[in-house]
Amino acid sequence: MSDMTFTLTDEQRALKTAVYELCKQYPPEYWRELDAKREYPEAFVTELTKAGYLAALIPPEYGGAGLGMMEAAIILEEINHSGGNAAACHAQMYIMGTVLRHGSEAQKTLYLPKIATGELRLQAFGVTEPNSGSDTTKLQTTAIKKGDRYVVNGQKMFISRVLQSDLMLLLARTTPVDQVRKKTDGLSVFLIDIRGLKGLEVRPLRMMMNHSTNALFFDNAEVPADSLVGQEGKGFAYILDGMNAERILVASDSLGDGRWFIEKAVAYAGQRVIFGRPIGANQGVQFPIARAHMAIEAADLMRTKAAKLFDAGLPSGPEANMAKYLAAEAAWDAGNACIDAHGGYGFAEEYDVERKFREARLYKTAPINNNLVMAYIGEHVLGMPRSY
Ligand SMILES: Cc1cc2nc3c(=O)[nH]c(=O)nc-3n(C[C@H](O)[C@H](O)[C@H](O)COP(=O)(O)OP(=O)(O)OC[C@H]3O[C@@H](n4cnc5c(N)ncnc54)[C@H](O)[C@@H]3O)c2cc1C
Repeated sequence: MSDMTFTLTDEQRALKTAVYELCKQYPPEYWRELDAKREYPEAFVTELTKAGYLAALIPPEYGGAGLGMMEAAIILEEINHSGGNAAACHAQMYIMGTVLRHGSEAQKTLYLPKIATGELRLQAFGVTEPNSGSDTTKLQTTAIKKGDRYVVNGQKMFISRVLQSDLMLLLARTTPVDQVRKKTDGLSVFLIDIRGLKGLEVRPLRMMMNHSTNALFFDNAEVPADSLVGQEGKGFAYILDGMNAERILVASDSLGDGRWFIEKAVAYAGQRVIFGRPIGANQGVQFPIARAHMAIEAADLMRTKAAKLFDAGLPSGPEANMAKYLAAEAAWDAGNACIDAHGGYGFAEEYDVERKFREARLYKTAPINNNLVMAYIGEHVLGMPRSY
């Protein structure tokens, strides 16, 4: 740890600039129109894929860039920093680890090169259910082996990008909870091809922000037995060990949001003249923006520490969780400072502040709510009794 630096390498700085430049070709109007229609940013995601950025974490032998978590974090941060919404494509990065670490050679050879070129998309991650929510081990979707297939039945809730994805990583129960030693046993992960999958109904949900989210209904959907990732019954552990990557990458989404809010607020506060002077000259306007900037910078340090530990193969659970919490809260505070600085214009669609405000709010709640992050810190870092 003593030699850990928090400055970016020349290559990382170049990556940051290149991603930002690509994103800037998609102006605020692009995102605003899609948001109003709740449509997927197809052109943007295609261009990002063609440029190779979404294959950052795929090893070169499977056609990817073979970069680390820090580079993946930079890519997502810059999408949000530019005014876009990385939620359209972040899952491909944060679920990649489960496939890389636990997928079979056959699965990796079959899918990864096609994901790298964009021929296939792996953007859907099916965990949450209506009756279990954050309590994942209580999920009720079952996958029962019948010969060379698994038959899937159950419901999933808030599963994003299913209609824009070819593949889905699915968590289902393969052994009933009353037949396992621990409730975390008996869950399995599947990498399934959802193109035209019979027995899967997808019902889009209109959410507060443009997020391509759905309710899913599996009714005797049959998937090939070789869709199973790793060992049957060990899926919960596989999902858990992908969580640090998810936390670091979602923190990066929030950092990008926060930076966008701060730049937007500073620019507006400098040019809006009321009572004969720029509103930014008033401490009531300036200080919340300055405070938000400090919080974003502090969260950035924690995110960078987490990403560097992750890339060094060292434990990063506490840092990844703290980064997710700190960045989500800091982005939310930056969003509020930005709205306040804009007065009534903060609520007008054409300023984009209200859109980013809605988008930034999500990360206090999903993919994991900040209460459960605090429960993790309280229990696993500070050694206090389990609170749930
Ligand atoms: C836009 C959007 C996209 C999403 N995309 C996906 C996706 O692609 N795939 C997927 O699997 N899921 C997805 N989710 C689901 C998301 O991960 C869940 O909403 C989240 O995990 C919480 O589950 P829940 O909504 O059922 O809330 P619940 O578990 O019912 O919790 C409700 C609230 O109660 C509080 N709470 C619950 N338990 C505790 C406790 N023990 N201590 C303190 N507070 C507690 C929390 O603050 C929480 O916000 C998405 C959600 C949204 C909103």
